[in-house]
Amino acid sequence: MPAADPILTGRVQSLLYTVGAAVLAEIVQVEWNPRMRTTAGTAQPRTGRIHLNPRLLTISPAEVERTLRHEAAHLLAHWRAGRRRIQTHGPEWRQACADLGIPGEKVTHTLPLAPRRKVAAKYFYHCPNCQLLVPRVRLFKRPTACLKCCRQFNAGQFDARFQFRRVPAASPSQLTD
Ligand SMILES: [Zn+2]
Ligand SMILES: [Zn+2]
Repeated sequence: MPAADPILTGRVQSLLYTVGAAVLAEIVQVEWNPRMRTTAGTAQPRTGRIHLNPRLLTISPAEVERTLRHEAAHLLAHWRAGRRRIQTHGPEWRQACADLGIPGEKVTHTLPLAPRRKVAAKYFYHCPNCQLLVPRVRLFKRPTACLKCCRQFNAGQFDARFQFRRVPAASPSQLTD
């Protein structure tokens, strides 16, 4: 079951607003899809949905951001083209990448990976303070807080202000591209 990510969704929304795609910004939704294997991300222009592979989190925050923009560029290119058919990674997409701050983006959607983890994360938590995203195979059994924030602001002691919060599950959907 994909998990909606309100923070990444907000980030794509602001990017889309800055390039004048307000209509698209209002429908875009970013979700983590634990079923993805080697595909880094997908975008569905019809619904404005972006799916990201949770394994991106094990690579780097930069890789999450780059993939997010790569997929947002697919949405932007399709939105700008309207009913006109365009190539998936054609000139419209390349222009959209440049506009979204990733000029010269590569065409591949495959992760530079890393053997697949035996068990994929099913649940996701956020730190409400630093917004760290934590993929989990199981739910936390007891209240658990972000260690980094507890160290920084509460001498390493548990602090409910930094307690991880569940990222809600999103509805399943078929994605293309
Ligand atoms: Zn692509
Ligand atoms: Zn934190």
